[in-house]
Amino acid sequence: MQFMQDLARVLVICVGLLCSSDQGLHLRSFPPRDSCEDLRKRMNGAGDATMEDIEVLDSKDHLSGPAPPTNGASGEEGKDMTSKDYYFDSYAHFGIHEEMLKDQVRTLAYKDAFMMNEHLIRGKVVLDVGCGTGILSMFAARAGAKKVYAVDCSNIVLSARQIVKDNHLDNVITVIQAKVEELTLPDGVEKVDIIVSEWMGYCLLYEAMIDTIIYARDKWLKPGGIMFPDKASMHICAIEDRDYKEDKINWWRNVYGFDMTYMRGHALAEPLVDAVDSRQIATNHTMLVEIDMYTVTIQDKTFSSKFELTAKRDDYIHALVVWFAVDFSKCHRNIRLSTSPEGEYTHWKQTVFYLDRYIAIRRGEKLSGTFSLSPGKQNIRDLDFDITVDFEGEHGKLSSSQKFKMR
Ligand code: SAH
Repeated sequence: MQFMQDLARVLVICVGLLCSSDQGLHLRSFPPRDSCEDLRKRMNGAGDATMEDIEVLDSKDHLSGPAPPTNGASGEEGKDMTSKDYYFDSYAHFGIHEEMLKDQVRTLAYKDAFMMNEHLIRGKVVLDVGCGTGILSMFAARAGAKKVYAVDCSNIVLSARQIVKDNHLDNVITVIQAKVEELTLPDGVEKVDIIVSEWMGYCLLYEAMIDTIIYARDKWLKPGGIMFPDKASMHICAIEDRDYKEDKINWWRNVYGFDMTYMRGHALAEPLVDAVDSRQIATNHTMLVEIDMYTVTIQDKTFSSKFELTAKRDDYIHALVVWFAVDFSKCHRNIRLSTSPEGEYTHWKQTVFYLDRYIAIRRGEKLSGTFSLSPGKQNIRDLDFDITVDFEGEHGKLSSSQKFKMR
């Protein structure tokens, strides 16, 4: 059993490596713990395989769909999926869902939003956008929803359908395999009361699944309906990170006696997704942007935000760190899912942008700048960043402008 699990994990890692040979985010380490989410990012945002490439088996015939396997195996195993299938449909593999489900900060926030707010859910019609294993749909059903439509384009729905049945919730939840953009809701349903989704990518907007949520909201949300979550925000602070910058960025200056500084530029241009130690935070933090899920448009994904950070001690600044939070503000008490470096670990970690030159800052001194974000020009699932920093302090000054890209 353990052997099979290890084998499956190795497969996921191999596929991740296979499709990320020349690009992708830096990760401080590539332990198994990271592999699935890394894969999530690589497969759905970076590589050639996007959601558009995934062949949806039964989008036209969503109510019948492929029969669940009878041998107790998961749907994808029942179909004998190969590594090629997983390349084009990374979400079909259970490993990526294990990673997300085990992220308790993430999953418990959704659970609380449903289970502690039955007054919002009871008797309501819910649409779960990107249902995966069906976990959020099952929370909704347990919280008293009258009907839940659980939609996903991945073959994971074959498993979700069985899971829903095994939990005796198939009288409430209908699992539909379809791209949300091509979906017609069954039963002649035209509007829903609640749209739930866990759509957030690295640095919030990586993967561009927010486009799908905007589409779903505009098409199906009733006037006065609820988005779960309904707010998202991005935040920034600055850190001391000399050791790691030396290891990942400056290391290229001398590789076995050769000058590979040329590569340093490439390394610098890619933000690093990693868990930042809160002890490295040298400044306060500030909000870059707040997104209202009821009104956000695709155009809002391109923005420029000014920020100002104040040093809380004498320290060096090597990098800026960005993270996000989402809120379920319609709950009886606001529920926040935060990926702050000062909070608990989540699989999204934080996104680190190394500065070309470090800053020696004194307590109370201010560093200001501009953070600009836009979807990639060639692939909208990518992100392009433009970050300027201005600093003038007792021990020096810096005025810099750096471009970063998440691919
Ligand atoms: N809701 C699940 C899974 C979240 S992962 C959970 O919380 O555990 C996001 C899911 O959205 C993936 O399973 C992916 O296949 C699905 N997805 C992404 N874009 C989609 C689209 N355009 N249409 C349908 N499903 C989509």
